[in-house]
Amino acid sequence: MRLSIVIPCFNEAENVDQLYKQLQPVADEIDSEVEFVFVDDGSMDTTFEQLKALADKDKRIQVISLSRNFGHQAALTAGIDHAGGDAVVFMDADLQHPPQLIPRFVEKWQQGYDLVYAHREGVKPRLGYRIINTLMKVRVPAESADFKLMDRRVVQAFRQMPERSRFIRGMISWLGFKQIGIGYQQAQRFAGRRTYTVRQTAKMALDAILAFSTIPLRMASVLGLVTLLAGLAYAVYIIYAKFAGWSVTGWTALILTVLILGGVQLICLGVIAEYIGRIFEEVKNRPLYVVREHIGKNQSKQ
Ligand code: UDP
Ligand code: MG
Repeated sequence: MRLSIVIPCFNEAENVDQLYKQLQPVADEIDSEVEFVFVDDGSMDTTFEQLKALADKDKRIQVISLSRNFGHQAALTAGIDHAGGDAVVFMDADLQHPPQLIPRFVEKWQQGYDLVYAHREGVKPRLGYRIINTLMKVRVPAESADFKLMDRRVVQAFRQMPERSRFIRGMISWLGFKQIGIGYQQAQRFAGRRTYTVRQTAKMALDAILAFSTIPLRMASVLGLVTLLAGLAYAVYIIYAKFAGWSVTGWTALILTVLILGGVQLICLGVIAEYIGRIFEEVKNRPLYVVREHIGKNQSKQ
């Protein structure tokens, strides 16, 4: 049995050596062969040089260096594509994911679970997750992190998902399989700052909702329908008022109608545009990431 540990790194120079050190006893504890797949997601600091130095010493290490920063989800995809193990573990490089949990993942895997994920204990599910779970057809375990073990079967199914809008947590939940969660306390970042920007987080939330649900499209139609009905009711009133001879000044009603209708139309257009934008991204069919350098590739089975 072979275990691949996939670790995306973006400007994690202060963390990688410490992470590697902490992973050693863990790798010894697991009674299967371990391979480390570090993905350097276009780091601007010395992350790549450090990883390269580690790979020179340790033949179990593969380093995949991407040509620029493609984002966490693309980096994970690059890692899983190059992982040759019978099971693949995803973990972050900043030591927020305790490596000590990996042997417990493996234990559950050996008990026959295809997917073992870690979920943060004692954290109330954030509003974002609640919205996602309401809108999406799949359930993403609350506060689950991208810290999980996947059996080869899950990995192969995952590789068949070519979509560009990637919300990996949702995609893996969508796959199903026999899953189990393990609770853990999330540590603080060992060093450095969170590299996810607010924009990236917002984009991921949008991807999560739009890639897994067409409810926003339906909401647009419902909004349109409600507006139409309200407009019709108002029309009946106006016609009645005209025949009844009431004085109709009209200005307020007119401007209100224009504003409301304009607003509703723009919202609906925006929703459709979000989907079309994603269709455009899919149709271009560009690779999800570009590899600049691959170190230790003889190690991989492919
Ligand atoms: N990461 C990456 N590419 C990016 C942003 C982040 O590969 O563009 C990596 C980062 O090095 C870390 C993991 O993704 O290993 C999680 O990032 P971060 O700690 O910033 O996110 P958080 O833990 O706060 O959700
Ligand atoms: Mg982190």
